[in-house]
Order: sequence, then C-alpha cells, then structure tokens
Amino acid sequence: MPSTISLIKKLRSDYPQFIFKKSNGFSWSHSENTIFYTEKDDNNSLLMHELSHALLGHTSYNRDIQLIAMEREAWDHTIKLALKYDIIISDDMVQSNLDTYRDWLHKRSTCPKCTANGLQTGKNTFKCLACGHSWRVNDAKTCALRRYNVKT
Ligand SMILES: [Zn+2]
Ligand SMILES: [Zn+2]
Repeated sequence: MPSTISLIKKLRSDYPQFIFKKSNGFSWSHSENTIFYTEKDDNNSLLMHELSHALLGHTSYNRDIQLIAMEREAWDHTIKLALKYDIIISDDMVQSNLDTYRDWLHKRSTCPKCTANGLQTGKNTFKCLACGHSWRVNDAKTCALRRYNVKT
C-alpha cells in the first residue's frame, strides 16, 4: 500500500478539481470543495472513502437513513476506486464502518422514555409512536466526526 503522503501527491494530480488539505482527521466538505486528511493515521481506505464522497457529489442529508445510504454508496465506490491505486479495501472494514452508523442511528432513534423505536420527524427530532414522546438529538454527525467519536 502506498503511504498517505505519496498517495496525496498522486491524487492531487489525478483530481485537480478538489483541494486536499492536511487536518486532524479524514473528511469531505462539499461547501469548501476540500478533502481533509491526516498523515498521522496512514489510512488510505478512509482517504479513498472521502474522495468517493467528493466524486459522488455528496452534500448534506436531512434524514439519518439518507446518511446510511450515502455511506453505503460511498463505500461501494471506494472499493472500485481503490483498485486503481493498489489499495485493498476489506469487506470487514466496510461492514464495521457501516455498523458504527447503524449503532448511532439506533441510539438516536430509541425513545428515552419507553425504549421503543421512534420515527424521525426532522433532521434532529424524533417521535415515539408507542408512547407519543418527542425528543431532540444533537446535530447530525458528519462522516468523519462520526468515525472520530467511535475511535476515541
Ligand atoms: Zn416511547
Ligand atoms: Zn463517509
């Protein structure tokens, strides 16, 4: 596998339409047209993943379920894209990554009063159909922030 530093060099020339910027984590910002990466964590799978979000034109989402769909789509794309750069994306990695989103979704949608599964009524609001309780959750996480929470 190429190192992140040499890979970034190659990606910069292959994808001049995007800005690649060193940061303390991997993420894609549609508004800044920038892929953020870190050299500390040589994780080319995540770099390929963020590039896939960029190439797919992913922006924001209104429902958690859309985020999961976007993540799945991005990983499908990542697997194909990574082949061009001799990077192997393991299925385990993809599944465990998607699992973190499923767990997160599950936690947010669980009714704090009766633990039934609630219905998402807004970007950060849920309603329980079992007991009628409504609740708010914190701002929806971005792809990278989400992973950072899981890692720490
Ligand atoms: Zn409830
Ligand atoms: Zn993602």
